[in-house]
Amino acid sequence: MQPDDLAPASRVVTLGRGPGRPGDGVSPPLELSSTFHADGPVDYARVGNPTWTAFEEALGALEGGIALVHSSGMAAVAAVLSLVPPGGTVVAPGAAYSGVVATLAQRDAAGTLAVRWVDPGDRDAMATAVTGADLVWVESPSNPLLDLVDLGDVVTLAHAAGALVAADNTFCTPLLAQPLTDGVDVVVHSVTKYLAGHSDVVLGATVTAADETGQELAGRLHGYRTLAGSVAGPMETWLALRGLRTLSVRLERACASAADLAARLRDHPAVQRVRYPGFGAIISIEVVGGAAGAEAVTAATRLWVHSTSLGGVESQVERRRRHAAEPPAVPEALVRLSVGIEDVEDLWRDLLTALSAALACVAETSGRGPRRPGPGRG
Ligand SMILES: *Cc1c(COP(=O)(O)O)cnc(C)c1O
Repeated sequence: MQPDDLAPASRVVTLGRGPGRPGDGVSPPLELSSTFHADGPVDYARVGNPTWTAFEEALGALEGGIALVHSSGMAAVAAVLSLVPPGGTVVAPGAAYSGVVATLAQRDAAGTLAVRWVDPGDRDAMATAVTGADLVWVESPSNPLLDLVDLGDVVTLAHAAGALVAADNTFCTPLLAQPLTDGVDVVVHSVTKYLAGHSDVVLGATVTAADETGQELAGRLHGYRTLAGSVAGPMETWLALRGLRTLSVRLERACASAADLAARLRDHPAVQRVRYPGFGAIISIEVVGGAAGAEAVTAATRLWVHSTSLGGVESQVERRRRHAAEPPAVPEALVRLSVGIEDVEDLWRDLLTALSAALACVAETSGRGPRRPGPGRG
C-alpha cells in the first residue's frame, strides 16, 4: 500500500518513519548532534537535522507541500514576513492572533512595512486593499472571534494584484483544512497547539506548495531560518512528531465534544453569544456580567485549566482581553474555550458551575444577590 492511498487517520501514524530497514528504530531517533561527518546530506544543525526532516516530511505530506520547522509559531510568522520587501505592504485582519497583530503594528509604526487593516469578510474592502500589496495575511477561523474567510476568494483577488497569500492554519490543522489546495502560497502553524498537542512544546512551521513557485518560496524561507538562526530544538521537534501520531484521535474527540458543548451553551442563561464555526474544537462565548462575569467564570473552573494557549489534551479557558495586546475588536466578556479530550459530561458539569459564578456576579452587582457584610452591618 502506498502512503498516498491511506486516510489521514492512518497517515499521521505512518508518515516520517524512514525506510524501515531491518534493525532501524520503528520511531525516528532524536538527533542531538550539532554537526555531522562531512559530505552527507546535512553538515550543520542550524541548516538541517534528521529529526526535523522526519517531522517536515510528515507535516508536508499532510498539507500537500514542503514543510519547514521553526522555533515557534511566531518564528514562522517572522519567516513569512521576510518574504515582504523592505517598505512593502501587508494586508491583514485587525482581529487575529494578538502576536501577529502586534508584530505587524510594530513594523508599521517603525516604517519597515505598511499595513492595511481589513476585515477579510468585506470583499469590497479586500478588493481595494490588495492593489499594490505584497502579502495578504488570513486566519480562518480567526483567533478568538472564530470568523471564517473564503480562502479561494481572497487568493483570486490577491493573485490578480500580484500579492502572496499566507494562511494561519493553526486552528484547523491539515486534518480539517488544507489551504494550499485553495491556492494559498504559505501555510503557517503554531505547532505548539494541536499538532504537538500536549502543552509541552513551543514550535512553529511553514508549508509551501510542491510546485516551482512553492519550491522557490521554501528556499527563501529556509535561507531566512538558517541565517536568522531561529531554529527548532530537536527535542521539541521529536515531541511534536510523537504528538502528531495521535492528532486524528485527539481531534476527533475534541471536535465531537465541542459540537456537543456549543449546542448546550446556546441555551444557558449566562451565555449571551456562542461563537462556534460548526467544526473544530474552539468555542468562544460572551457571558453576562462583562469582564467581571468572564473573570468569575475563569476563576471558578476546576477541570478546565485557566491558562493561555489552546489545542492541548487538557481543556483550557481564558478571557482574552485580560491581555493588553489583545485587539479591541475582541469583546471584554469573551471567554475562549479550547475543548480537550476529557469526558464531555465532566467538562459540562464544570462549565455549569463556572457559568453560575457569572450569574452570581450579575446578581451581586444589581443588588439582588447574596448579601455581603457592608458598612453598618454584620
Ligand atoms: C499561538 C498562535 C500563534 C503563535 O504561535 P507560538 O507557537 O505561540 O509562537 C500563531 N497563530 C495562532 C492562530 C496561534 O494560536
